[in-house]
Amino acid sequence: MVEINKFGILNDEREVSLFSLKNKNGMQADVTNYGAILVNLFVPNGKNELADVNLGYDTLEEYFVNGPFLGATVGPIANRTANGKFEIDGFVYHLDVNENGNNLHSHFDKGMHKVLWDATVDEAENKVVFSLKAADGELGFPGNREFFVSYKLTDDNALEIHYAANSDKDTIINLTNHSYFNLKGHDNNSILDEKLWINASQFTEIVPGAIPTGRLCSVKGTPLDFTSFQVIGERINDEYEQLQLVGGYDHNFVVDKKEDGLEKVAEVVDEVADRIMEVYSDLPGIQFYAGNFISAHKGKNGAQYGNRHGLALETQYFPNSANQEGFARPIVGPGKPYATTTIYKFKSCNS
Ligand code: BGC
Repeated sequence: MVEINKFGILNDEREVSLFSLKNKNGMQADVTNYGAILVNLFVPNGKNELADVNLGYDTLEEYFVNGPFLGATVGPIANRTANGKFEIDGFVYHLDVNENGNNLHSHFDKGMHKVLWDATVDEAENKVVFSLKAADGELGFPGNREFFVSYKLTDDNALEIHYAANSDKDTIINLTNHSYFNLKGHDNNSILDEKLWINASQFTEIVPGAIPTGRLCSVKGTPLDFTSFQVIGERINDEYEQLQLVGGYDHNFVVDKKEDGLEKVAEVVDEVADRIMEVYSDLPGIQFYAGNFISAHKGKNGAQYGNRHGLALETQYFPNSANQEGFARPIVGPGKPYATTTIYKFKSCNS
């Protein structure tokens, strides 16, 4: 069932909506056409107790700020692009240089998380489809492009996010969802006691500024080894250079792909809350960001947010894949559409 309510009004008077997707188990995902953002995610545990496991804000106005990209759809290129530029067919395209001489998440103020998308409700599929047009040259990116992001809630407690895009000219597209999860509830302070598994025996090594060197390093014997379940807080402060460079976990993991298409790439377990989140993706990488730099500020329902109150598992092409030789390059253009799917699926520890 999809319910539509008013979320707020933009400065130019356009109305913004909140779409609530509900399923038969009481699970509920609230998404808004402002930024195609996931605002709330109420998830049951084994006792059917609901918790909102997604960090966010109560009001539209707070999403105008949203420094940490809570719940956001990020693009056209998520993560980092070295020196804020890339080249296609001899042309150099310049993006906003907004972090340490590089580009992070395309644009802090004008990215796709800060514009109004069109919305279509598909009641039969329990799904909302957001769409957005972008003109050639907008924010520095080539191509007249069209983006689609849909959220669908299934009766087996899966929030399915499907991304599609096309362009009339070769361009780079790498979209992700930047939700921060805390399986005890968004207001629960810390994710450090949750356990994490990532299907990755390698990660992309970084330099200061978090741009990949191009080298894939083995996780074996390092605090980045999540090939078996590990408590997140156990090794996060280890004296390991790759961790210290970014104040904890904020790395792209190289998915050990067994096949093309969707597979389980990560799983978070919170035994106290009795909730498990499985992440399915068809992409080569996943950024595990432990919320190292969430500044102290007010979140939903008066909650006080801060460092490591939520974790993000951002499915993606590798950071700087627009430039780095050896990384799969997400080129989209005539006859080369973009289509990927990410699923966040929830269950109780006893099911
Ligand atoms: C990046 C972090 C950054 C966060 C918020 C993540 O995708 O990897 O370094 O702090 O987004 O912008």
